[in-house]
Amino acid sequence: MKIKKYSFGVGDRFEIQGEAQLKAIIKAKEAGIDITPVWNKSNREHAIIHSEPADTRVEADNAVKALGWTGDYFVDADHINLSTVDRFLESSDFFTLDVADYIGKPSSDEEIAEFIENNKKYLGKLNIPGIDHPFDISEDTLKEIGGKFLFAAKEASKIYNYIVDKKGTDDFIPEVSMDEVEEAQSPVEMFFILSALAQHGVPAQTIAPKFTGRFNKGVDYVGNINQFAKEFEEDLLVIDFSIKEFSLPENLKLSVHSGSDKFAIYPIMGDLIKKYNKGIHVKTAGTTWLEELIGLALAGSEALKLAKSIYAKGFGRMDELCGPYATVIDINKSDLPTADEVENWDGQKFANTLRHVQGHPDYNPSFRQLIHVGYKIAAEFGSEYTNMLKKYAGIVGQQVTENIYDRHIKRLFG
Ligand SMILES: [Zn+2]
Repeated sequence: MKIKKYSFGVGDRFEIQGEAQLKAIIKAKEAGIDITPVWNKSNREHAIIHSEPADTRVEADNAVKALGWTGDYFVDADHINLSTVDRFLESSDFFTLDVADYIGKPSSDEEIAEFIENNKKYLGKLNIPGIDHPFDISEDTLKEIGGKFLFAAKEASKIYNYIVDKKGTDDFIPEVSMDEVEEAQSPVEMFFILSALAQHGVPAQTIAPKFTGRFNKGVDYVGNINQFAKEFEEDLLVIDFSIKEFSLPENLKLSVHSGSDKFAIYPIMGDLIKKYNKGIHVKTAGTTWLEELIGLALAGSEALKLAKSIYAKGFGRMDELCGPYATVIDINKSDLPTADEVENWDGQKFANTLRHVQGHPDYNPSFRQLIHVGYKIAAEFGSEYTNMLKKYAGIVGQQVTENIYDRHIKRLFG
């Protein structure tokens, strides 16, 4: 199996918006942009919602059938490792091998020596075609990079081979992710990470590094845009060179996690992938649930009432909800409206405060981030929440489609 040039990680917490998401992909196709949809859901999300990977497969298959989609599509076991992969084996055909936790774990001296031996042709001045400055590579550089990433590459290989044992080599797309860490990986680190992955027999088709800057959940990119642009461009060139040097899959491409809402860097990524004729995968699944709440706020009094109670409960349980996401949110508590204030809002005010339209005077990124991590509360409402989504499927779905197509796809690929 091979993933095509452009792919988009959709998927959603409650697995109801499959059709609304696919409609955005179809709109793109009608506009001449070919995108493969990938429904992704992580083990963490399944645990919080109490859903099963098989449910994601059903969502994707049903959406594809209902809308007559004839293109490729995948179901991504997002952020799995050896201890969590099992229950995804049957329903997934895309696996995100998350080895972030293994970065920095020590490898043996023999393994480091072997890594240096395998990469000794790059000692001295390493020139990557397209990058105008050479990288200085010494044995110490290789020792340091090997020491940091070799264990993680071996772990990726263990997970990969485990999946191959169960499914065979041709039945899934392997992604390797290292994004959930504090420190960004540099392009030169990326080059030797790809070397290590190739050495350990992991034919990654997508790779998710930690990029420079903050990729907070549901809000715009925060960081040095010029530095990001330089790093992203060099990553593309490194990937191009690595494919040839290490015989990695020719469609290998970058995967951008927490990729929704990073509007400040969309035009940069869009221009660079076009300039170098490269593909990209962008994961945006977390955002869909915010659009559900916007839809409910606009759907009339009973639905707005539910949206408000979800916020009120979330506001009261802020620390509990934010805990697991502490490194990927920046909520300014003094910007948050109290539950009583929100009680007096109409649907438009709620929707405009939540919707990611930066020029709008009501838009409040702290409010948006708190709700982003508050899907646990909606899950606790159980069928009361999901029945409301089904009852107001029209207006809710419209928000979901518009968000993916107008605010995301058009900005990135337009
Ligand atoms: Zn991720």
